[in-house]
Amino acid sequence: MSLSCFELGERMLSIEEALTALRELAPQALESEIIPLSSLLDRVLAEDAISSIDVPQNTNAAMDGIALSWPDSKQTRFVLQGDVLAGNCFEGRLDPGQAVTITTGAPLPQGADTVIMSEQLHMQEEGASRWVEIEQADRVRRGQNVRRAGEDIPRGTTALKAGTRLTPQHLGLLASIGMGEARVVRCPRVAIFSTGDEVTAPGEVLPPAGIFDSNRFSLRGLLTRLGCEVVDLGILRDDFACIRNALETAAQTADMVITSGGVSVGQADWTRKALDETGRLGFWRIAIRPGRPLAFGTLGERDIPFFGLPGNPVAVMVTFLQFVQPLLRTLQGEHQWQPRRLTAIADEPLKSREGRVDFLRGIYRCDDQGRLHVSMTGRQGSGILSSMTAANCLIEIEAPRAEVAQGETVTLQPFGELT
Ligand code: AMP
Ligand code: MG
Repeated sequence: MSLSCFELGERMLSIEEALTALRELAPQALESEIIPLSSLLDRVLAEDAISSIDVPQNTNAAMDGIALSWPDSKQTRFVLQGDVLAGNCFEGRLDPGQAVTITTGAPLPQGADTVIMSEQLHMQEEGASRWVEIEQADRVRRGQNVRRAGEDIPRGTTALKAGTRLTPQHLGLLASIGMGEARVVRCPRVAIFSTGDEVTAPGEVLPPAGIFDSNRFSLRGLLTRLGCEVVDLGILRDDFACIRNALETAAQTADMVITSGGVSVGQADWTRKALDETGRLGFWRIAIRPGRPLAFGTLGERDIPFFGLPGNPVAVMVTFLQFVQPLLRTLQGEHQWQPRRLTAIADEPLKSREGRVDFLRGIYRCDDQGRLHVSMTGRQGSGILSSMTAANCLIEIEAPRAEVAQGETVTLQPFGELT
């Protein structure tokens, strides 16, 4: 399906149509840069990480004990030929029935194929000769307690794919193949501002008809967790020239601009008009709740993406998670990303409307038989931000469903990485 976000007119879009239009508009990741391993957490790989070595490098012992060359006939006593400590290689070769003591991680001598742990051994020595007696020798299996060279990552294979967002375990894996640095997509620079004559910065005195600016701070948090550099342009009055100038300036240096408020058709909603002058306006009407109105378009000479999010604080977070997040992840090179979804039993009836996707704030839990259940956090107004702090998920009621009866299953998006 091909959808230009500028040709969608005034019709109501589904979430999928909106997401497709977004992908068409910004299909490419930003440029890449080489960053040292110690600073790679949460960054997205710009190219495959291919291992130039076998991991582990050598076939080695998984336990402290002895390494032996499997005997030709039954044998419970092994004469020791030497000791191999981790970090050292044994020079000689073991013949069948011979053994060395070995510590965990030390390479197996040539000829050795089996390790027996020290708890199963009785060490003996007499003069210069040393040997071990094995307890319960019938329980020893050929090849046991041995880690094969390359069993984790074989040489020449892709250890991690381009587009991987690096978690602590990814960093460990990159280190294990010896990569001291990696090529990752550069951090998107995202400019944000709030709009509204009533909107007041926290810390200031709240005017009689004011409301504190929560959107800039929830947005900043979401963007920071997503690995973006935030350019905070503050609060703008409901003033056409002021908003237009801010959009123009932001478009010169940012990779994306996000505003909240001022996109509905109310009298004081200037963002829409300003965008008509300084950029191109995309779709407006998406069949979701909360989340309307939402503007999307491009700005400036570089056609950077612009999101005009709704003013209501819950709507800001929901639309960020559903629309801004996938686009930012695409810009970061994480092309296959999808929100995590689970299915749970509704513990109470859930209201929705046919033809639009409803996102309710929910609390899910597991019962003692391992089934997931979900209920609402209480009042669901799009201005009730405490519904987001009480929740541990968004309940996603698909467009065709008019309501969910108690006991029916619903989809949920668990809070996680960003929330
Ligand atoms: P608007 O889209 O500008 O009509 O705003 C819708 C609602 O969201 C109004 O009640 C605004 O006061 C509120 N609102 C707008 N911006 C913010 C903000 N930054 N923080 C908290 N509430 C806001
Ligand atoms: Mg407003």
